[in-house]
Amino acid sequence: MAAFGTVFMPEMIISWFDGNGWSNAEVVSSDSLQLHPGAHVLHYSSTCFEGLKAFRHADDSIKIFRMDRNIERFAQSSELLALPELDKAATEKMILDIVAKFKNDVPEAPGSMYIRPTHIGTEPAIGKAASPSLTSCQYILLSPVGDYFSGGDTTLRLLLEEHGARCAAHMGMIKSGGNYASAMRPIMKAKAELNADQVLFCPDGDVQETGAANFLLIDGNEVITKALDESFLHGVTRDSILTIARDLGMDVQERQLTVEELLERAAKPGCEAALSGTAAVLTSVGTLIHNGKEHTVGNGGVGQTTLKLRQALNDIQWGKAEDKFGWLTSI
Ligand SMILES: *Cc1c(COP(=O)(O)O)cnc(C)c1O
Repeated sequence: MAAFGTVFMPEMIISWFDGNGWSNAEVVSSDSLQLHPGAHVLHYSSTCFEGLKAFRHADDSIKIFRMDRNIERFAQSSELLALPELDKAATEKMILDIVAKFKNDVPEAPGSMYIRPTHIGTEPAIGKAASPSLTSCQYILLSPVGDYFSGGDTTLRLLLEEHGARCAAHMGMIKSGGNYASAMRPIMKAKAELNADQVLFCPDGDVQETGAANFLLIDGNEVITKALDESFLHGVTRDSILTIARDLGMDVQERQLTVEELLERAAKPGCEAALSGTAAVLTSVGTLIHNGKEHTVGNGGVGQTTLKLRQALNDIQWGKAEDKFGWLTSI
């Protein structure tokens, strides 16, 4: 099985902003993109993206999950990066059109079609280190993906990092390339030195998120995760899992979680921790590494509540449970 995100549909849909308006969307080959080497994005990282999925139901209909939320976030990221304003209706049509074009290629469950909208500043102007690109382009790539857990359902090892931050505090809620570049070295170091899978960034003891997923602590009937602020990415999966947990009668607490409280609760048998994101939905965390010491979360295995919440979300995505929150859009 090819690695996640390495297989692409042969065509993408693209639209250009020339400083005044957006061009009509065009379906073009997805194997190249012509840019001036001085393009703003290549020097000053004027780039943001989204990640959402389309699912094939048993009746062969194709549904996109929470597209409205992802388009809102895409527009917000663009605005916060001073990229040209997106036309949300046009972006929505581009997504629907390109997924419809490749609807026969949407994998069956447990696979799906990962959708990657991207918006970049294209103005050839290397003197614009402190001013925005007046032109831009948005395109939507499609990548069929298989079962994330095909290798078995294992648990993750996370390094708790209290000193470094994932990215600049005011950039956290923007899904932008520079933030991943900023987190790369600490993550590589934790992998090499501690055999960690991810770094859980906890600046000054405030449990935030990992390089590309949100963090949830599940202690009995309680689900605890950081309240929304501009310092971290507002995951659609996070919101969906919290909505399902509330609906199941769980006590959902969006509030500050300190490293101290996290380690105290994690030591209790039955405690669970998980990462949430579109790619893997919900993945169990088995070990927290802190100041050279390893702390097992609960019994260190895959959490039963984690599995239940993931299943509940998957069931809605694949049409096995009622879409009671109105999260699916038909193609
Ligand atoms: C994309 C992303 C998430 C998860 O967001 P979803 O909308 O659930 O996919 C969390 N953190 C970061 C840093 C991300 O880039």
